[in-house]
Amino acid sequence: MFLASTPTIKGLSRIEREFEASDQRRYVVPCPHCGCEQHLVFERLRWQSGQPETAAYVCEGCERPIAEHHKTQMLARGRWQATATSADPLTVGFHLSSLYSPVGWLTWERIARDWEAAQGSDEAKRSFVNTVLGETWVETGEAPDWQRLYERREDFAWSSVPKGGLFLTAGVDVQKNRIEASIWAWGRGLESWLIDHRIIDGGPGDPGCWAQLAALLIETWPHVSGPASAWRGWRSTPVTKRLPSTPGPVSRALPRCCRSRASTDSIVLPRLPGPPTSMPPRAG
Ligand SMILES: [Zn+2]
Repeated sequence: MFLASTPTIKGLSRIEREFEASDQRRYVVPCPHCGCEQHLVFERLRWQSGQPETAAYVCEGCERPIAEHHKTQMLARGRWQATATSADPLTVGFHLSSLYSPVGWLTWERIARDWEAAQGSDEAKRSFVNTVLGETWVETGEAPDWQRLYERREDFAWSSVPKGGLFLTAGVDVQKNRIEASIWAWGRGLESWLIDHRIIDGGPGDPGCWAQLAALLIETWPHVSGPASAWRGWRSTPVTKRLPSTPGPVSRALPRCCRSRASTDSIVLPRLPGPPTSMPPRAG
C-alpha cells in the first residue's frame, strides 16, 4: 500500500500518524562548503526581513550561507536516511518539503516571499506549513483543548452506526453489582464512535446478568446507510488463554458466558492499572 498526502493539523493528520509509524526517511544533502550532511529545515532558511531575494540556506555544520545555485549539485549527491525504527520493517516513509524543489520550480526566495505574505493570517500560515513544508500545523490560540474537540464533533443518531463505521467492538466492564457494555463503531484510520452504552444490573454472580450480556452481544445495530451491521472483524482468540493468572469470581464466570457464544470472539482482560483503553484488538 502506498500513501501520499499533504498533512493537515497536528494530532488529526492520518498521514502524520502513518509517517510516525514508519522509519521516517529524510533526504540528506551535503553542504557545498563543509560537506556536512543534513536534511533541509525551514528554520535554516534565512533572509533579511522584507527582502526575500536575500534568502539563503544556512548550513548546520559550518553556519555558512548556501546559495540557491548549489541546490542542483546538493540534490544529486543526497541520499535517503532513516531517522527512526519502524514498528513494521516493511513500512518505509519518505518526507520531502518544497525546500528541495529543483531549480526552476519553487525557489528559496519564493518560499521566503510566501512566508512573509502569509503573516497575519493563521489560515494562510497553516496552508504554507501544510503545502510548502509538508508539515502538520500546530493549532494555537486561546481556545482550550476541550473546546477545539467540541467544535470537531459530528452529529449522528445514537444507537446507529455512522457512515464511516466498518465494524463493531464491545468493551465490557464487569463490576460487583452490574455489567456495563460500550459498543464502538470503528472506521478507517481508527476513527471511532461510541454508538451505545448499556448498564445491566446484577453483577457476575447473577446468571441473568450474563444472559442479558450474551443477548446484547448478538444484537445488531442499524447502519445509517441502511442494512443492519453484523459483528465481524474480531480476531479468534481462545478465551481461556487470556485469563488472569489468579481467577476470581469474575474471570471464572466470564468464560462460561463467552463459551456459550461460540459465534463471537472475545478477549478477557484482567483489571489493569491506568486509564481504560478502547482500542480494538488488531487483526492479523
Ligand atoms: Zn557547511
